[in-house]
Amino acid sequence: MYYNAVENVVEQAMIEFEYVTGRSYKPFEYRYFGSTEPRVAIVTMGSSVKVVEATLDCLQSEQACVIGVRMFRPWSAQRFCNMLPKSIQRVAVLDRTREGGSQGEPLYLDVCTSLLNTGRTDIFVVGGRYGLGSKDFTPRMVNAVLQNLLRKDVKDIQKPFTVGITDDVTNLSLSLGRSLNSFNDAVTQCTFWGFGSDGTIGANKEAIKMIGNYHDKMAVQAYFEYDAKKSSGWTISHLRFAPSGTISAPWRIEEGQANYVACHNESYVQAHKFDVTRHLKRRGTFFLNTSIASIADPAQRLEALEALVSPKILRKLALRNAKFYIMDAGSLATRFGLAGRINMICMVVFFRLSSVIPLDDAVALLKAAIRKNYGHKGEDVVNKNITLLDTVVNDPKTLIEVEIPQKWRNIVEGDKAYENRHIALIDDEKVRKFMQEIGDPVTRLEGDDIPVSKFLANNLLGGVMIPGTSKYEKRCPNPSGKIPEWEPNNCTQCNQCVFVCPHAAIRPFVVTKDEAAAAPFPAKFETVKATGTEFAGKRYTLQISVLDCTGCNACVEACPEAPKALVMGELEKSLETGEKNWDYATKLPERGHMIEKTSVRGSQFQTPLMEFSGACSGCGETPYFKLLTQLFGERMVIANATGCSTIWGGSFPSNPYTTSKTTGRGPAWANSLFEDNAGTFDEYSLLCILYPFAHLIFFLLFQNLGLVCSLL
Ligand code: SF4
Ligand code: SF4
Repeated sequence: MYYNAVENVVEQAMIEFEYVTGRSYKPFEYRYFGSTEPRVAIVTMGSSVKVVEATLDCLQSEQACVIGVRMFRPWSAQRFCNMLPKSIQRVAVLDRTREGGSQGEPLYLDVCTSLLNTGRTDIFVVGGRYGLGSKDFTPRMVNAVLQNLLRKDVKDIQKPFTVGITDDVTNLSLSLGRSLNSFNDAVTQCTFWGFGSDGTIGANKEAIKMIGNYHDKMAVQAYFEYDAKKSSGWTISHLRFAPSGTISAPWRIEEGQANYVACHNESYVQAHKFDVTRHLKRRGTFFLNTSIASIADPAQRLEALEALVSPKILRKLALRNAKFYIMDAGSLATRFGLAGRINMICMVVFFRLSSVIPLDDAVALLKAAIRKNYGHKGEDVVNKNITLLDTVVNDPKTLIEVEIPQKWRNIVEGDKAYENRHIALIDDEKVRKFMQEIGDPVTRLEGDDIPVSKFLANNLLGGVMIPGTSKYEKRCPNPSGKIPEWEPNNCTQCNQCVFVCPHAAIRPFVVTKDEAAAAPFPAKFETVKATGTEFAGKRYTLQISVLDCTGCNACVEACPEAPKALVMGELEKSLETGEKNWDYATKLPERGHMIEKTSVRGSQFQTPLMEFSGACSGCGETPYFKLLTQLFGERMVIANATGCSTIWGGSFPSNPYTTSKTTGRGPAWANSLFEDNAGTFDEYSLLCILYPFAHLIFFLLFQNLGLVCSLL
C-alpha cells in the first residue's frame, strides 16, 4: 500500500520542485532524435542517460529513442509502459551491475516483468552491462549497443551483452567501433598530463573560470583524474570549450579526439611510462615541457628528443600530422626566481597554442588573476610573474616548434628492452606473469584493455592480490632528479636516516669483506667497519634503491652528524651502479637477527615487510607502519581504516606488504570502508582481535563438551 502511494508522492514532489527551481524531472523521461515513431529504445538510468542522449543526437538516429529512469524504486510498471511508444519493437536495458547467478540484472528484470504484465510481449528485450570496474561509459559504447539492437535479424543480437570490457571468458562483449566524435568542430577538447602537486590542476581550474566568464555564451567543462598516489602521482585534466550553447558530456575525452594535449612532465613520455598522445586527434597540437628545449642546436635537440621520447609516441605524432612544441618551463621559472612554478607558464602556452580565446584578452585576464592571487605576497612576486608571463608570450625563443621528421613515421614501435627492464629482475615466475599481464598495463593506465581471461590465468578471482608488488612499480625518475649519496667517513651508523625513510628505499646492510668485494660495482659499494660487538668482523654499508627513492630529502634532514653523512646528488649519475648494487645487496644473507631489534638502530637492520609504498614523497605516516612490520611483521594482522593508509597500502596493482624471505610469513591486511575503524576501535578492528579468541573458546568448549553439559 505504502509503495503504491510513493509513486504519486514522488511525481507530485517533482512537479513542485520544478515550480521552485525551474528544473523538470519525471519518474521516466523519454527522448527521441528523429522519427516520432522510433523502432528501438535504450532504457538506462543515472549519468548514462546523458551519454545515450548525446550519442543518439550525434548519430541523428531515426530509429532510436532513450528512456531515462529517474524513479527506480518503487518501480512503476504502468508509468514505464505508458512512456514506451507503441512503435517500439526492440529494447536494450543497461545495468551498471553484475548479479552473479541471476537471470538478469535488476533494471532488465523490471522491464521484462512490466512488459509481460501489461501484455507487451511483442517487444524483444535484451539486457546488457556497462561501466563495470568503474569503466567510463562513452558514445562509442552506446553506438555498439545501438548497432547490436539494430541488427537485421533478431537471432543475431548478442543477448545478454557486456560493453566496455573485453570479456573473453563468457564472450559476451560487444565489439567497439572507432571512437565517435559527438561534438562539432567549434568545440575544443584538451587534455593536460600533470604531476600531483605541480599546480596543473589548479591552473586548469583557473583557466576554466577565466574562459567561462570571458563572455556569456561561452560554455566550458572540466573533469580531473588523479592517481591514487596524489602528490607525486599523475593527473589528467580533461577540458572542453564551446563558443556557445552548453556542453553535456559526462565522459572523458576519448582516444584521438583532443585538439590540444600538454604533457607537463617529461618523464611521462619515456618508453615505460604513459601513452600521453593517445587522446591527440589528427593535426592536433602536442606540447611537451622538457629541459631539452634549452639545447640551442636544433640537430642536438632533435637527437635528445629521440633519445627521451618513446618510439611509440614519436611515431604517433608523425602519423597524426601533429604540431609539436616544446618549452623548458622549469628553467624559465627558475630564471625569474619562481623555481618549480611552471603552472602559470604552461597556462600561457595553452592560450598561445589553443586559440580558445584571443591571446591579448587571455593575457589581460591572466595579469588580473596574478594581481588577485599573488597581491598579498607583495609587489615583487606580482612583478616577477607578470614579467615571466610577458616573456613567454613575446620571446620567440621560449616556445620551440619541432619539425617532425618523416622517419618518425617508420620508427620501430616500443622499446621492450627498456619497458621490461624491471621485469627481468623478477625471479618468481608467478609474479613475473602478473606484472607483465596485469601489473604493468594497469600502471601505464592501459588496464581497461586487459581481457578478463588474464585475471583468471593469474588466479586473481575474489580480489586476491599478490604481496610485495610495489617493488616492481618503480617511481624512477623521481620528481626531484636527486638521490642521497652516502659519505661513509662521516657516518656513525645510527640508522636514523633509514628509520625516517617513507619508502624503505635506504637500508643498512651488514656484509663480509668478500661480499662487498663481489658487488657489481665494488667501488660504489662502500663499506666501513660495522660498530657493535655483535657485528665483529663485519662491514656496514648503506645502499639506496635509486629506482624507488622519491628524492624527498627526509633521510638527509634526519642525519644528525655535522658534516652530514648524506647529501643529495644527481640521480642520473648513480642510476646504473645504484640499481645493480641495490639488487645485489638485497639478495645477500639477512643479518638482522644478530642484533637486538628494540632500539632505533637495531630495528632498522630488520628487513621491512612494508616497502616502496605509494605514499606521497616525504610521508610521515609510512615510517611508523614500516617500523611495525620490522618489529612484528611476521605475525601481524592489520585492520586498516579507509584513508591514506588504504591508498599507499592497497591500491591495485601495487601492494607494499610483503613476506619474509626466510619464513614466507608477512602481515595480513584487511580494510574497512569506514574511516573510524581504527580511531574508535569499532566492530571491525575489535572483531579482528577477538576472532582468534572466539575460535579458541569454541575449540575449548567442543573439546570439553561433556564437562560443559554436566556443569549445566
Ligand atoms: S630521499 Fe626520501 S625516499 Fe629517498 S632514501 Fe631518502 S628518505 Fe628515502
Ligand atoms: S643518519 Fe647519518 S650517521 Fe646515521 S646512519 Fe644515516 S648517514 Fe649514517
